[in-house]
Amino acid sequence: MSQNVDVAIIGGGIIGCSIAYYLSKEGLSVQLLEQNEIAQGTTQAAGGMLGAHSEYLNDMFYSFARDSQALYKKFHSTFNGDFGYTTSGIIQLAHSDEDRISLSRWNDAAYLSARQVRERIPHIAPPAFGAYLFEDDVHVHPEKTCLAFCDAAKKLGATISEHFEVGNIEELYDGYRIRNSSSVITAKHVVIAGGAASAELIPGLQMTAVKGQCMQLASMGMQLPYTLFHNGCYIIARPDGTLVVGATMEQDVTDLQTTYAGNLALKDIAERFIPGLSRLPVIARWAGLRPKTVDDFPYIGRVPGKENIYIAAGHFRNGILLAPATACMIRDLIIGNEINTLRIDAFNPKRGIFHEANNRTKRQPV
Ligand SMILES: Cc1cc2nc3c(=O)[nH]c(=O)nc-3n(C[C@H](O)[C@H](O)[C@H](O)COP(=O)(O)OP(=O)(O)OC[C@H]3O[C@@H](n4cnc5c(N)ncnc54)[C@H](O)[C@@H]3O)c2cc1C
Repeated sequence: MSQNVDVAIIGGGIIGCSIAYYLSKEGLSVQLLEQNEIAQGTTQAAGGMLGAHSEYLNDMFYSFARDSQALYKKFHSTFNGDFGYTTSGIIQLAHSDEDRISLSRWNDAAYLSARQVRERIPHIAPPAFGAYLFEDDVHVHPEKTCLAFCDAAKKLGATISEHFEVGNIEELYDGYRIRNSSSVITAKHVVIAGGAASAELIPGLQMTAVKGQCMQLASMGMQLPYTLFHNGCYIIARPDGTLVVGATMEQDVTDLQTTYAGNLALKDIAERFIPGLSRLPVIARWAGLRPKTVDDFPYIGRVPGKENIYIAAGHFRNGILLAPATACMIRDLIIGNEINTLRIDAFNPKRGIFHEANNRTKRQPV
């Protein structure tokens, strides 16, 4: 089978699927190629927080994250289906004076004293320095959200090809060709959204993985009206009545096994938020690999030296949060819309490409 499209997207995680949606919305013909199945990579392992405040890196990153939250709100209001969009917000706890000072800089957060926190969440270990409620930091169900973008893209005409592994991108005079044993796709533009595996398609691209383990508990009727967050750890109350406790941060570990040490760490996180929580029945445990770049900002932009190949990968702790804004930035690059230059510079993939590493790429490079 052969197909000719405007854009071929490699990778069916939250990033690839949201790009497929926003490009299809512009009327471009799109084919998304996923080596396994949609939403089964790191995306399915995420907590799903849209934590623009809890994941603050700098003002530019924050404004990008806020744009993404707004795009989610719009998508939620137009999408005909449920992807776990939950609006209660995140309560960030202040267990020290440093926590309090750092959180008090936000003027869009409501301060809660320890007593007020206790009134809202009776079982909580009271935070000595109070807490701040960030109502805009909503959460979604990551896998359902990825599938929602995918379905919305399909409805707009995108073709989704699962079990299609891209090993090579051939350069043509006026575009690119990608093939496997049964199909040939020619595309004017190619977007690499392969998560942690993206580096295998781009010579010298620096990408590491930080493993994260989570556990899901049955709440047994315990009401948790907000996501709780402190020091990178969290408990998310999903709309189905379960609680997701996360997450470990394990550098340079690339397996997907859940471990005894990970289990202990998660129980400890649960107890620090709500004493006794770790005794609730465990429904599931899982692990995922966060794709990490050289500086924790994602790579979003043109692959250096390639006219119409783009990368959107390396979203580390924030791929769910940043997916719609990333997709719109790729869309704007492809169709030639104006883009904030601070974002172009900060996310430029050039900063992560070291050519002496070319020999180490496993696959034939682009
Ligand atoms: C424990 C944990 C908790 C997290 N919590 C949050 C959170 O609360 N909020 C948040 O915003 N982020 C969170 N994240 C981060 C988030 O999950 C990731 O940043 C995001 O899922 C990355 O999405 P992606 O589409 O780039 O990658 P993936 O979901 O991994 O998708 C990439 C896809 O590309 C495919 N692929 C790769 N190479 C090829 C190829 N050659 N050919 C065809 N297909 C290919 C893969 O099979 C995969 O399906 C969390 C991550 C972890 C591990």
